[in-house]
Amino acid sequence: CGIVGYIGTQAATDILLAGLEKLEYRGYDSAGIATVWEGEVNCVRAKGKLHNLRSKLEQIEAPAQIGIGHTRWATHGKPEEYNAHPHMDTAKRVAVVQNGIIENYRELREELKGKGHQFVSETDTEVIPHLIAEFLKNLPPSSPSSSSSPLLEAIRQAVNHLQGAFAIAVISADYPDELILVRQQAPLAIGFGQGEFFCASDTPAIVAYTRAVLPLENGEIARLTPLGVEIYNFAGDRLKKQPRLLNFNP
Ligand code: GLU
Repeated sequence: CGIVGYIGTQAATDILLAGLEKLEYRGYDSAGIATVWEGEVNCVRAKGKLHNLRSKLEQIEAPAQIGIGHTRWATHGKPEEYNAHPHMDTAKRVAVVQNGIIENYRELREELKGKGHQFVSETDTEVIPHLIAEFLKNLPPSSPSSSSSPLLEAIRQAVNHLQGAFAIAVISADYPDELILVRQQAPLAIGFGQGEFFCASDTPAIVAYTRAVLPLENGEIARLTPLGVEIYNFAGDRLKKQPRLLNFNP
């Protein structure tokens, strides 16, 4: 239902929680946040209101500078903590939040189970991190001189197999400087700061930090690093895009 993301130099958890609060008006049944810190994904989820998530997060140190957050409105699977986003692959290296519905998730789940992936939720969303992990495994090792991103390429291949209307945000323990976004028939926008970038499914979660906003269009993939933003189509072609300045009061 609501997506937020952050990459930069500040503590991500505080920014993600503040962003999720701005999206509360849309309604939700559970919430969660994943960050990458010291080579691991830290994923914390809670059923019910955001203060349940907040009190869980207060018990852990939160220095990470990259993360994604989600408020879920269940469409596939009960509104329980084990179905709350973010969802991860079996090895817990890739974390994904999704708004929308993956229509062909049953076929994908059976195929991935056959390849050894273990599923722990009832959601349509969980196929996404497993599919990304599967494509990452099968990518040729990238040469050190190559500027291309294996994570971006695996996500590009994965989204070409997804049917439905969705917006996605992805982080990975193995690529701690990349936040990847995908938009297909569900809104997602990027906020441009100084050495930091924000994303959200709705701009109220962004305008507290920056007025320079780029709404993604259908069929676009964005790669956010602390150095900048790159936009691609699903075929992998780089697109030229600039943020525009919003001039309303939040
Ligand atoms: N279909 C997904 C689920 O049930 C996402 C729902 C949403 O947009 O919050 O987990």
